[in-house]
Amino acid sequence: MCGQRIPAWLSGALVVGAFAALFVLERRRPLRHEVESKLTRGARNLAVAGVGAVALQLTESPVAFSLTALVERHELGLLKRLPLPAWLEVALAVLLLDYTLYVWHVLTHKVPFLWRFHVAHHVDLDLDASTALRFHFGELVVSVPWRAGQIVLLGVSPLAFSVWQTLLLLSILFHHSNVRLPAGAERRLNHLIVTPRMHGIHHSVVREETDSNWSSGLTVWDRLHGTLRLNVPQDEITIGVPAYREPGEIGLVKVLVMPFTEQRPAWQLPDGGTPVRAASPVSADHLLP
Ligand SMILES: [Zn+2]
Repeated sequence: MCGQRIPAWLSGALVVGAFAALFVLERRRPLRHEVESKLTRGARNLAVAGVGAVALQLTESPVAFSLTALVERHELGLLKRLPLPAWLEVALAVLLLDYTLYVWHVLTHKVPFLWRFHVAHHVDLDLDASTALRFHFGELVVSVPWRAGQIVLLGVSPLAFSVWQTLLLLSILFHHSNVRLPAGAERRLNHLIVTPRMHGIHHSVVREETDSNWSSGLTVWDRLHGTLRLNVPQDEITIGVPAYREPGEIGLVKVLVMPFTEQRPAWQLPDGGTPVRAASPVSADHLLP
């Protein structure tokens, strides 16, 4: 059973359906005021995503396909050493993949070579479901060895990998989206999973806010590491990276070549200043509207 994968048409339909539903909701109930036109940004982000999808097909997909099959055939990795029923093995694999992706996300911010690529995701001046797909193709390629390590060391089967990939895509579409959920409902949901207000804080121009909320699925990893930050009101957040504030600096070509050019000090505004925010009187784990 673990040798099977979720059919591509099913995960494809779920992801396209979620994107379409979020697109409609973003128009009806926007969470943050948008700086650029949705059409311009959407087209740019989908173009970056298209290049990324080709890169994934050429690099991660064949590696993940053969390594998960190898794990299944030779019972490699942590989870394959334990006598687990299939459902529990898949659930634990998803959990551990989610945690190791948290670690990878921290590294993409802390290691300058990786930040070169990840910055292309963060320079978007707005945040919506299309941002969730706009990862630089270089970031997707350099993450392949990490992904290979996750599969082989954790013992991730083809089924577990396809379940995690589908859930991850749905999760990142959701928490990047610009949808205003009722604050009470989002607070409850946020006890378990990353929500739009929480991830909005990770995309803030204030460095201490970006250096928080690294989780991509479950919020437990930020809670355990003390990196959870919820006490920033959404209407006070400026989305983006201080060094790139002009729409003209983040056009499609500029975003694609960004990792290969000289890097600006990302957390400095063009005038040399640094965005800061006065300390909130509300505790960090309280989600503000
Ligand atoms: Zn990030």
